[in-house]
Amino acid sequence: MPVYKSDCFVNILLTGGMGYIGSHVAVVLLQAGHRVVLYDNLSNSDAGVLVRIEQITGKMPIFIQADIRAAETLADALKQHAVEAVMHFAGLKAVGESAQKPIEYYANNVEGTISLLEAMCKAEIRTLVFSGSAAVYGEPQYLPLDEMHPLSATNPYGRTKLHIEEMLRDLSASNPLWCIVCLRYFNPVGAHESGLIGENPVGIPNNLMPYIARVVAGELKELSVFGNDYPTPDGTGVRDYIHVMDLAEGHAASLPWLAEHPGCYAINLGTGQGYSVLEMVAAFASASGHAVPFQIVPRRTGDVAACYANPGKAGRELGWRARRGLFDMCASTWKFQRCIGLESCTSRAISP
Ligand code: NAD
Ligand code: UDP
Repeated sequence: MPVYKSDCFVNILLTGGMGYIGSHVAVVLLQAGHRVVLYDNLSNSDAGVLVRIEQITGKMPIFIQADIRAAETLADALKQHAVEAVMHFAGLKAVGESAQKPIEYYANNVEGTISLLEAMCKAEIRTLVFSGSAAVYGEPQYLPLDEMHPLSATNPYGRTKLHIEEMLRDLSASNPLWCIVCLRYFNPVGAHESGLIGENPVGIPNNLMPYIARVVAGELKELSVFGNDYPTPDGTGVRDYIHVMDLAEGHAASLPWLAEHPGCYAINLGTGQGYSVLEMVAAFASASGHAVPFQIVPRRTGDVAACYANPGKAGRELGWRARRGLFDMCASTWKFQRCIGLESCTSRAISP
């Protein structure tokens, strides 16, 4: 169910719109009456997402397969589809890989964003929602993390997000017509309730939730829990997991707000509630009806003990708060996992 209807910014371009978060935002925007243009080079997604978005919404979004660094194609897309606002999801996001391939990350994320901003300037489109990350808070100095927390980054991926935010603040300072919001996501998980779209990483997942899902599906033997000696209630790492549909609704809520707020803002999208790895394991077992085999292994380099949001600003400014709980996050992930396990999930109903 869409939570809002918007009459501002009819035509919206989503860079990286075929990806995990972008595809869920596309669903919410289409259901709210927007026209969406998905602009994606498919480096981490597949064209099948388009049909599944249509199945959910009854509307086929416009899709352009191209890189955000292809300046001419991007300029044409903005012009041809009379784009009024951009949501910028395109980017590489694997923390570990970013340490192995830093230049690729800067080229894709930072150079890609410069290319996008140049195209937007030329087309005189000055409304932008940017996919930020709690990674810009670095090692938490206090919890919960509010937007005033000092910024730093502990890996190249986080630094690309930090550089982009700084660029956006400079841009906004140079021209008061820009309306920009950096939505700092905490840990997006879950899938659309249909089970048709969700997170389907290529290869062995880096993140907890898709890893657990594949263990339960029998594709991986067991979960490695990275450390049980953190200063947390059960010793395992604590994170703020947020349902991807709540996140998507947060994006939709930012549009009418941005229309009235020139400047450059940062807003956390999290629940404010932290859960440990073992709590996630128990929640997934309960939602799926299957045990999650695991073993405790040493800590993963670079991990912090706990990280969770103060989501107060999103509530005050956007009138948004996360509504879905841990059970929904796990149940929808499991439903999606079973769906991709079927030969074709497009025509079958999946029971809850
Ligand atoms: P994703 O990889 O599923 O989606 C990103 C999409 O961008 C993919 O479809 C990919 O093909 C496309 N893309 C990448 N580089 C591109 C380029 N140069 N030109 C055109 N398309 C390109 O990732 P996601 O989880 O949906 O994340 C979306 C955004 O949110 C990213 O910027 C990510 O850094 C940010 N973010 C994600 C998380 C998370 O845990 N998923 C957390 C914080 C922030
Ligand atoms: N984690 C784990 N095993 C895994 C993947 C993750 O124990 O296979 C833990 C990780 O140490 C962290 C939490 O799960 O405490 C969330 O990790 P994820 O990679 O999903 O998100 P991030 O580290 O970016 O917050």
